[in-house]
Parts: sequence; C-alpha cells; structure tokens
Amino acid sequence: MWSARGVIHILFAGAFVLSWVAVASSLEHAPKVENVYADVEEKPMAKRQLTPEEERVIINKGTERAFTGTYYEHKEDGTYVCRQCGASLFGSQSKFDSGCGWPSFDQALPGAVQEVPDADGRRTEIVCASCEGHLGHFFRGEGLTEKNTRHCVNSVSLDFASATEPVREAAYLAGGCFWGVEHHLQRIPGVQEVTSGYMGGKVRKPTYESVCGGETGHAEAVEVIFDPAVTSFKAIAKLFFEIHDPTQLNGQGPDIGHQYRSAVFYLSEDQRVATNSLVSQLRRKGYDVVTEVLPAGTFYPAEEYHQDYYDKMGKSPYCHSRVSRFD
Ligand SMILES: [Zn+2]
Repeated sequence: MWSARGVIHILFAGAFVLSWVAVASSLEHAPKVENVYADVEEKPMAKRQLTPEEERVIINKGTERAFTGTYYEHKEDGTYVCRQCGASLFGSQSKFDSGCGWPSFDQALPGAVQEVPDADGRRTEIVCASCEGHLGHFFRGEGLTEKNTRHCVNSVSLDFASATEPVREAAYLAGGCFWGVEHHLQRIPGVQEVTSGYMGGKVRKPTYESVCGGETGHAEAVEVIFDPAVTSFKAIAKLFFEIHDPTQLNGQGPDIGHQYRSAVFYLSEDQRVATNSLVSQLRRKGYDVVTEVLPAGTFYPAEEYHQDYYDKMGKSPYCHSRVSRFD
C-alpha cells in the first residue's frame, strides 16, 4: 500500500511521531459507510487519532489556507500517504508546482484515490479510497502538465514517507493491564517504542475511566513499533503469549473484566497467520487458548500517566511475568 504493497510501513512524521500506523494492503477493505467512524470494528485498518485541525479537513471536508501547508513546497523523494490511515496516495514524481497554494499531483497511485461529486455541485472531490478521508479536489483540462490533471490536496490530509526512511512495523496486542505488557515488550531488542492504549471498542476517544467501566468495549492494548530487520512480529507475539496467560478468559491475574481480555489485533494477513500458528502450537501443548484474533481497529493512546508506568514507578509488574510455554 505504500511503494511496496503488502509490506507494513510505519511513518513517523513531524509532530505526530507516535500516533499513526499504516496497514498492509492485503487486508480487504470493509464496505463503505457514511461516517468513517460509524463502526470502527468494520474497518480493518489502523487509523490515527486526528487533531482538531485534521478533523476539520479530513472528516468535515474543510480546506487549509493556501500557501500554508507543510507539503506545498516539499520536494523530497518518497510517497505521500493518507494522514488518517497511512495508505499510499501519491508518488513524489507526480508532484508539480501548480502555483495554486496546495500540493498538486498529476497522478494518484493506482486505486488509491476516489473521485466523488463535491457537495457544491460543481467540483470533483477526492477522498482516500481506503478510509474515505477528505483529501481535496480534482481538476482536469488546465493544461498544467502533460497528463492535464491536478489532484489539489490539503497538506493536512497527508503524511510523507521518505524513500530513505527506514521501514518500521507495528503490532497491537492486548494481554491484561497494559502497564505490564508494555514493561515486558519494550525490552525486546529491535522494539523501538511501546505505547499503552485502547483498541477494539465502539466509541471514539475512550478514557481510562470509560474503558474500566466496561461501556466502551475497548481492551487495554499496546502498540509495539519495531524494526523488522532486527526482530519480527512472530517473535514479539511469541513473547506476548509467554508474558500473559492466554487461557484466562476476560481477565488477567487479579484484573477481571472484558477490558483485560487477551487479543491480537492483526494488521496484515501475515500477522494473522503468524498468530494462528502460535495459537495452534500452544493448543497442541494442551493450552486452552482464548485469545481473540481480530483485525486492528483504531488505536487510542492512553493518558500520559499510563505510559512507561513501571519504569516511572521504579517497580516490577504485579500482573505479568514470563512463563515458558513454547519450549
Ligand atoms: Zn486514508
């Protein structure tokens, strides 16, 4: 879905370094829905949580002020991706200087962008084909390039993956209290960042209190960002199955409740297959694994005081310790 389709890339850009992830294109996209947040569970893609300005443009179809966007005069080699879902949209070779004040491209990547009649009845709106986030407008016949087309895109709707940027992958795992899962997983060589948060629920922007109350349906989960040249999803998932008890239903140790359920939220077919293979291995060893294996939804980072909790406290987890289950 970026330049190399089928490979999961993680883009860290600007001020939004930790908050979004792109997903592999091997996932099938869910049927279109009016509101992209209508049911996050139907959309097997990870989405960033948007800032108010991003929401104004991407969700409410607003327009950034001309000549103000980050990417208007940006000339690096790489791929412009959807700010909301990380899907690859435009290659840098299709970008040209239109003088209009917004990033302009004369060609989108195949199937990446969808044209729809604008609500103004005159123009053609363009949206991300993966998440339906608003990008801008499409114009034909202006004679600006040989292709004679212009995708006029808000910088706010975009992120950029530099051609020279290292590839990173993500994994989303839920195994009880996220403090303990984060503590163990961030010690794996090749893991660059682990963030505690929430996934798998039905409402936007859940809080710790609402998740604990059980009304949102979210699980306490972690986002693991890793370098696939050093470690692998399978290695991380394997350790995950050893630092929590995958046979405990709707709870982990003393923490009882649906928000403490065991789950792997996969981003690609490869991650799904790897997870199921580990589950099968455990079942063959007699473990009655209850871990849910589901497509990733939106990941919401938890409140700051939950991040690196045990390191901040100088304590060790009460809820998680490693038990050898595969050997
Ligand atoms: Zn998108």
